Amino acid sequence: MIPIGQIIEGHGNKVLDKLGLLPADLKALSDQRFNQCTTCHTDPRPDNPSQTGPGLRNNQYCNSCGCDMLAKTKVIAAKCPIGRW
Ligand code: SF4
Repeated sequence: MIPIGQIIEGHGNKVLDKLGLLPADLKALSDQRFNQCTTCHTDPRPDNPSQTGPGLRNNQYCNSCGCDMLAKTKVIAAKCPIGRW
């Protein structure tokens, strides 16, 4: 379960990003993480290299944790459930 504070942080930062107000370092971190998500369905899983990752549903929601990756990637303390970021 994601802590409520992280859900608020992620969605707040998603709004800031849409307004062009997300700090540049957090924007870069978020973009780097999201790029990992977009290739997840084709790249080997770190925890089981014989399988690929679960990938995204609707190019936004992680098929493993179900979270909105446009928000979760903007939570500094968040982690990918299979260790990709
Ligand atoms: S959070 Fe991790 S498991 Fe989910 S889509 Fe992104 S890289 Fe894949």
